[in-house]
Amino acid sequence: MEHLPTLHTAPERLRQLNDKTLNADGKFLLYWMQHGQRAHENPALEYAIRWANDLDKPCVVAFSLMDDYPDGSLRHFQFMLEGLKEVADRLAERGLKFCLLHGEPSKRIDEFAKDAVAIVTDHGYLRIHRRWRAELAESLSVPLVRVEGELVVPVETASDKREYAARTIRDQIMERVDDFSGQTSETKPKHASKNLHVRGDLDFTSVEAVLDNMKIDRSVPPSPDFTGGTSQARNRLTSFLRSNLDGYDDGRLDPVDDATSHLSPYLHLGQISPCEVLRKVRGSSAPKSDRAAYVEELIVRRELAHNFVWYAPDDYDSLNALPDWAAETLENHKSDDRPDHYTRDELENGQTDDEAWNASMKEMRLRGFLPNYMRMYWGKQIIRWTNTPDYAHKTALYLNNKYFLGGRDANSFTNVLWLFGLHDRAFTEREVFGKVRVLSRGGLDRKFDVEAYVERVEGLHP
Ligand SMILES: Cc1cc2nc3c(=O)[nH]c(=O)nc-3n(C[C@H](O)[C@H](O)[C@H](O)COP(=O)(O)OP(=O)(O)OC[C@H]3O[C@@H](n4cnc5c(N)ncnc54)[C@H](O)[C@@H]3O)c2cc1C
Repeated sequence: MEHLPTLHTAPERLRQLNDKTLNADGKFLLYWMQHGQRAHENPALEYAIRWANDLDKPCVVAFSLMDDYPDGSLRHFQFMLEGLKEVADRLAERGLKFCLLHGEPSKRIDEFAKDAVAIVTDHGYLRIHRRWRAELAESLSVPLVRVEGELVVPVETASDKREYAARTIRDQIMERVDDFSGQTSETKPKHASKNLHVRGDLDFTSVEAVLDNMKIDRSVPPSPDFTGGTSQARNRLTSFLRSNLDGYDDGRLDPVDDATSHLSPYLHLGQISPCEVLRKVRGSSAPKSDRAAYVEELIVRRELAHNFVWYAPDDYDSLNALPDWAAETLENHKSDDRPDHYTRDELENGQTDDEAWNASMKEMRLRGFLPNYMRMYWGKQIIRWTNTPDYAHKTALYLNNKYFLGGRDANSFTNVLWLFGLHDRAFTEREVFGKVRVLSRGGLDRKFDVEAYVERVEGLHP
């Protein structure tokens, strides 16, 4: 297409991914929802509705569910479907049809889109999400337009290269935050699509009914603590703003209080907009230092993680992506004696001699969540207790993505590599870790009430 309409969307958020032209005879404009799984404050959805209105066509929304999505289990699918059910209901209130397809998105969306005028989608960062978009851009005969709505500052606007650390990207992001954090207003669809003769593959009568039709790994049960969806995310945000933002700067690492926002699973699936979270945090009456500390995590750290996976697409899940100093020092200490050694099964089952570590593994298995400091402590000990850095990395990533509701995210790959020195600096040289930062059990004991933490986790039940 020669001119992509901007339709009240920042041009930096828009990218046409192929050079196909509109199908004027198409029956509807399709929003292929993938990462932005919400019907509120979703720039891709609103862009699709506005474009459909301009073209005098209805807008249809489709999501394609894949049984064998990497590391997906009942825990992840149930949480995601809870969110999608809310999306379907909210879209129906707006007169829009939501179709649940079944299969690899690049194939199912291509087939489903035969009668579409054009397709809008949101932004995905991981290899698999980039591949789906690239394959669709090629196979579709109509335009595929990507709208960034999952980061406050679009990744290529913040920086055109892989950044070294938070300090090298912070100013670039923070200088542009005000340009991109405004509210995405809702547009009324000119034409309802809910009665169009298009059908999804799965009837979305209930989450359970859809799950019954899927062939998925059911070995990881749903989290008793987290229910998916935008309303749940908004409730968590409201209660965090009311009770815990005040004190976040000092308290955010304390695993006993566990007083952070717990939004990572929701942000992971786009069930809440980071712009909405940012505006509400900035507008709160909590002390400036607490608001600033939260913005550092939500914006600088989270968007640095996306910068990393975006600019290191082939390596973000391997030690090859480490900075030279970290790779060298880990190689030099590869053969150091490990004080203790545990197999992957022993680790997964929390059978080490460290009761704090076992508690962290139990919390991860049961809740699908772990307070931030315990994630660091947990991961660092895996380096200490396994034969090689490479095996430690594979084990940490496997457990992270299997159990965390917010796993399989840009944040997951980036933070697991942080354990090995990514985005960090060199420290005094030690056994096994070399110059990579060490977190010891002694340090954990000095900082927190470990007994109280273990007790809290003992109280958790499936
Ligand atoms: C070994 C390890 C593994 C991790 N795995 C994941 C993961 O799989 N998925 C995930 O989303 N985060 C991961 N993190 C980052 C961070 O620990 C979690 O995002 C955070 O603890 C989630 O709790 P919260 O939502 O209450 O965070 P809050 O403290 O309330 O922070 C708000 C938001 O800021 C972002 N954020 C916070 N800390 C970080 C960080 N270090 N890097 C990037 N973004 C951050 C998250 O989106 C978070 O939801 C990991 C960290 C470590 C050290």
